[in-house]
Amino acid sequence: MIKGIKGVKDLLPEKTPRWRLIEETARKWATGYGFQEIRIPIFEVTTLFARSIGASTDIVEKEMYTFQDRDGTSLTLRPEGTAGAVRAYIEHNRAADPVPQKYFYLGPMFRHERPQAGRLRQFHQFGVESFGMADPRADVEVIALLWHVLSDLALPGLTLEINNLGYASDREAYRPQLMEYLRRQAGALCGNCRRRIDANPLRVLDCKVPDCRTATEAAPRLADSLSEKARTFFAEVLADLDAIGIPYCLNHRLMRGLDYYGLTTFEVITTNLGAQNAVGAGGRYDGLVATLGGPPTPAVGFAVGLERMAMMLPETAVASIPRVAAVYVAGFGERGSAVGFSALEELRVAGVQAVSDFRSGTLKAHLRQADRLGCRFALIVGDDEVAKGTGVLRNMETKVQCDVVLSSLSLHILPILRGS
Ligand code: ATP
Ligand code: MG
Repeated sequence: MIKGIKGVKDLLPEKTPRWRLIEETARKWATGYGFQEIRIPIFEVTTLFARSIGASTDIVEKEMYTFQDRDGTSLTLRPEGTAGAVRAYIEHNRAADPVPQKYFYLGPMFRHERPQAGRLRQFHQFGVESFGMADPRADVEVIALLWHVLSDLALPGLTLEINNLGYASDREAYRPQLMEYLRRQAGALCGNCRRRIDANPLRVLDCKVPDCRTATEAAPRLADSLSEKARTFFAEVLADLDAIGIPYCLNHRLMRGLDYYGLTTFEVITTNLGAQNAVGAGGRYDGLVATLGGPPTPAVGFAVGLERMAMMLPETAVASIPRVAAVYVAGFGERGSAVGFSALEELRVAGVQAVSDFRSGTLKAHLRQADRLGCRFALIVGDDEVAKGTGVLRNMETKVQCDVVLSSLSLHILPILRGS
């Protein structure tokens, strides 16, 4: 037997309604906030990711699915969506469009990580990218969108954490102080963090290893090295979040795993997912478009993990999703099964969700399947019904039955379905 790949999951039909609810909620809010869907490729040239995400990040160091194309070009399955969206923005000269370019995407991402609950090798993200607006309100707009999607789905135990990463020059001024501190603490840090002291010291601050957290507790804070301009910007973000009632917690250690962020950075965490407590994250990345060869373009965005959202989705939300089909057509007997089959087609063409199980030969077997499939009604068409010209419409819940004229079936059934 050939099996699926480790960390790459099938979503069986029992699970897809929950995913559709999440995707539809995301689409609804994103569209409502003026974001338009973008569909970008699943694979790109490797340098796109290496250059944008940053060489000494977890993703680029050890998580990318990279392979050689037949002509030797190095390609990579996308580990995140921002790099591709930025490439598309530049390649199609979207900067020339006078309206703000606000995109959202939904789709699979690939990272070679150790698979566990909420951490897969093929996982899915909903993300948005807002290009062209340097105003702090653009940050607040994406944060509000994220917050509303998660709240609309009633995901439990959420906290929005936010931090100010300042400008590149602020981080440059801070780096040597932090490096000096970290070198003194090196003995207490995990191997990963020790390596990062020189390459990417800021990342050490949001390492999840408890010893690393203790060792960095007294580290100098980036907040103390921020320029006046960065402070003013962030104060406006917070004031606007307050103004529209989005709750947040300041977390001065929040650094994020990708190099392109500056100024506002945020993460939504939950108490309901165990070790994988991050639901989604994002921030401002004003330098990235220019780094990838485009015109200087302010930008801000986020990405959330659909697997983690699906894990947290309360059963009550799932229960409200409509069942599979409205009507089960139970055609049996010689003429009954033939007339039933035509009725099935007629209902479907009329826009009614209708099903049947062609293996069932008796009324009893049909009704059992109607129950199992969660149908609201069964349309019973046996040879007797055909002779009379009326089928029997049975409400599967109340068991109440009524006759419906077979020659004008949809005319009779549609009002009953609407009324129920
Ligand atoms: P983590 O700290 O959990 O590793 P991250 O910082 O690597 O997350 P991002 O790159 O910011 O995550 O991606 C945003 C979201 O995508 C995460 O908050 C999470 O919900 C989801 N995500 C990231 N990696 C995975 C994965 N391997 N499997 C499932 N979901 C993931
Ligand atoms: Mg990660």
